Amino acid sequence: MSLKIGKCHCGAVQFEVDLPDGLQNIRRCNCSLCRRKGAVMASVPLKGLHVISGKDALRVYTWNSNTAKHYFCEVCGIYTHHQRRSNPNEYGFNIACIEGVDPYAFEDVTVGDGASQPITT
Ligand SMILES: [Zn+2]
Repeated sequence: MSLKIGKCHCGAVQFEVDLPDGLQNIRRCNCSLCRRKGAVMASVPLKGLHVISGKDALRVYTWNSNTAKHYFCEVCGIYTHHQRRSNPNEYGFNIACIEGVDPYAFEDVTVGDGASQPITT
C-alpha cells in the first residue's frame, strides 16, 4: 500500500494519501465531536495527504481550542480528514473513505481519549 485515493460519499471531494507503511494509528476517539461521528481514523504526516478535487466543496469545522481543523464535504456531509490538535503535523483521516479499505475489518480498534486532552491554548 502506498498511494491511495479517498473520496467522500458523493465524490465531490477526492484526496490521495501516501501510506508507505499502510494504515497507521487506527483508532476512534471519544471526544464530543468524534463520538458523534464514530469514524475509524488513521494518521499521515501533513505532506502525505493532498486534496486532489473538490477543495471548494470542503468545509472546515473548529471548536473548543479551534486548533484542530475538521474537514467535511458540504454536499454529502462526510468527514474526510482533520488536522490534529494533539499533533498538528499530522492529518487524521476517515479510513472508510479510502478505496479498498473495509473499516469493519479491524478488530479491537483503539478508542483514543480525546475527551481528556487538556486545553493548552
Ligand atoms: Zn461529498
